[in-house]
Amino acid sequence: MGPEALIGVLLALLLGLAIGKAWERYKLSDGRWIDRRRARESPHYMLGLNFLVADQIDPAIEELTKAAQTAGDSLEIHLILGNLYREKGQVGRAIQEHQALLQRSNLRRLEHANVLLCLGLDYKRGGFVDRALEAFTEVLRLDPGNEYALANLEKLYEEQHQWADAHATRQKLEAGAPEAEKPRHQRILAYLEDALGLAAAAGNDPAAAEKRFTAAIDLQPDIAPGHLHLGDVRFRQGDFPGAIAAWERLVTSSPDRAYLAFPRLEAAYTRAGDTQKFPALCRRLIEENPQNWRARLALSSHLAAAGDPAGALEILFDALVINPHALAVHQAIWETLSMLELPKALVKRYVELTRRSVFYVDPHICVRCRYRSTELLWQCPNCHEWDAFVEERIAPAKDAEALS
Ligand SMILES: [Zn+2]
Repeated sequence: MGPEALIGVLLALLLGLAIGKAWERYKLSDGRWIDRRRARESPHYMLGLNFLVADQIDPAIEELTKAAQTAGDSLEIHLILGNLYREKGQVGRAIQEHQALLQRSNLRRLEHANVLLCLGLDYKRGGFVDRALEAFTEVLRLDPGNEYALANLEKLYEEQHQWADAHATRQKLEAGAPEAEKPRHQRILAYLEDALGLAAAAGNDPAAAEKRFTAAIDLQPDIAPGHLHLGDVRFRQGDFPGAIAAWERLVTSSPDRAYLAFPRLEAAYTRAGDTQKFPALCRRLIEENPQNWRARLALSSHLAAAGDPAGALEILFDALVINPHALAVHQAIWETLSMLELPKALVKRYVELTRRSVFYVDPHICVRCRYRSTELLWQCPNCHEWDAFVEERIAPAKDAEALS
């Protein structure tokens, strides 16, 4: 974790968990906020917070420990201390700190829930999945609708591939969310429906799978995996027109990701005896978006296979200029050049086109955490966000020069 991310986590924990909403609620419930005031009067408390903001965890822990001693062992400070130990990777220490708080006899309901939530995060960090699940479930018993507990519980279920539980948990989050945030939850629910559909398909229940994929599409009409998988399950059952319809809907609903359906559509059209439909689809997509290098790549391989390698190569050169880092384009170019027996003039054109290009690896990037991947992923393996990958494109060097 980088220092900025760490600060973010710490501030979220500090502000969100320890002195946020719950504290306001305690104040309203019976006006007992003595601990908090005493804690805040301690110079060590403010010093500790200052060190935290400066990303100096060890001195922060030192000062907050002193503050805890002079401020009547405030619950708030011990919660924060435990969270800091966890962020430092000292999970055992964090668990100890938080478990000790559970022994207190005068814990109120929301305080209890808060301590359990922190403890659940400790368990999760330490890889104690069952205990983490138990802690978050208990938080929800004490404080139903606790967003932190629901969100963490969902991630744990996802990691265990318990898609039904993950789905049910996300539904609760959606139900409690303000209207403006519902679309975000529905988008995630759509991906969970898709995961449930795949599980049903793997369990030989195509009817249930179709239902899940359809539900995913209803929630998010441009969900690419939903369309692909719906087509697949229909195809396997021998419903070829139904499969084609599902894949074509992907092409219309998200043209940028239409290429995911290309091999499927090309095979299905050919099977149905129509050899013109696939190249026509590629040409239409190129016309709609001249930057669509994947449609060019697919069209060129179709043309090369149909006996027109020279036509295919021209289209590949266009694709190369649009996206010089796509290895698939280079491979296709060499294959086609070989088919043409390496004419010198064309090889020279290729070399000149590539010389002006800048290359880099891992073109897919998570917009949330900047994680890079060679392939398009539906869930980020680093931050677990759904549908967060975009393709980073670069222009050939000549365009970059023109811009500067
Ligand atoms: Zn990410």
